[in-house]
Amino acid sequence: MLINYHTHTVRCNHAANVPDAAYAEAALEAGLRELGFADHVPYPFEEQHFSGCRMRCADLPDYMASLTSLKEAYAGRLDIHIGFEAEYYPDYFDKLLDMLAPYPCEYLILGQHFIGNEIGEPYNGQPTNSAERMRAYGEQCKRALATKRFSYFAHPDVLHFTGDEAVYREVSRDLCRAAKGMEIPLEFNLLGFIEHRHYPRRAFWEEAAVVGNEVILGWDAHSPNWMKQPEKEAEARAYLEALGLTVTDSLRLLDPLYDRKS
Ligand SMILES: [Zn+2]
Ligand SMILES: [Zn+2]
Repeated sequence: MLINYHTHTVRCNHAANVPDAAYAEAALEAGLRELGFADHVPYPFEEQHFSGCRMRCADLPDYMASLTSLKEAYAGRLDIHIGFEAEYYPDYFDKLLDMLAPYPCEYLILGQHFIGNEIGEPYNGQPTNSAERMRAYGEQCKRALATKRFSYFAHPDVLHFTGDEAVYREVSRDLCRAAKGMEIPLEFNLLGFIEHRHYPRRAFWEEAAVVGNEVILGWDAHSPNWMKQPEKEAEARAYLEALGLTVTDSLRLLDPLYDRKS
């Protein structure tokens, strides 16, 4: 694999307790040319809502400073990019962009872990047989992609829908079409693949194959050595090829802050 744009850091509170540089070293050992950090974005919720699955707003300056110096230290050997994995929460998204505006944030990937505005919502990985919920997920993700601020769509099949298969396929195909229309690649998530989570889900990728989406592999690394599993990567590529999908090894970064720079 030449690129990985899905890398977490210790700040999200559920990744390995290692310095950021350990990811850069592991990436070089794994033969990567480009390494993108996309830790779980700190969301500017009201203070009474504590979101434990992401970095805190207070950690943002350190994240940016640490990765900026890493980028310089590895220049010429490894192309490091600074971004975030973010949900699209309509009530808070503008505030989020305003908060990121002073920083050299180069990209966002969409990882819609909750629908609505997260508060009071169950995690999307929890099984649900509600067709209404499946459709709401599809609509929210389409709105997210339409903002043109996400460079790719991480684990697009994270919603764990256990209801009518026809509804699953219909919503998934619609989502794949929207992504294709906006030229946004879909991520085949290697964390879910290796750990046999409910995603990647075969039916979703069959729909993506019909639509002809561009697919990108993401390690979703929460520890450095995770990126050094070439046999798993080969397995994932073979799985996708068998479905008729091709994996891209380059990513066009969309500037999420294009209208917020002075
Ligand atoms: Zn995620
Ligand atoms: Zn992730």
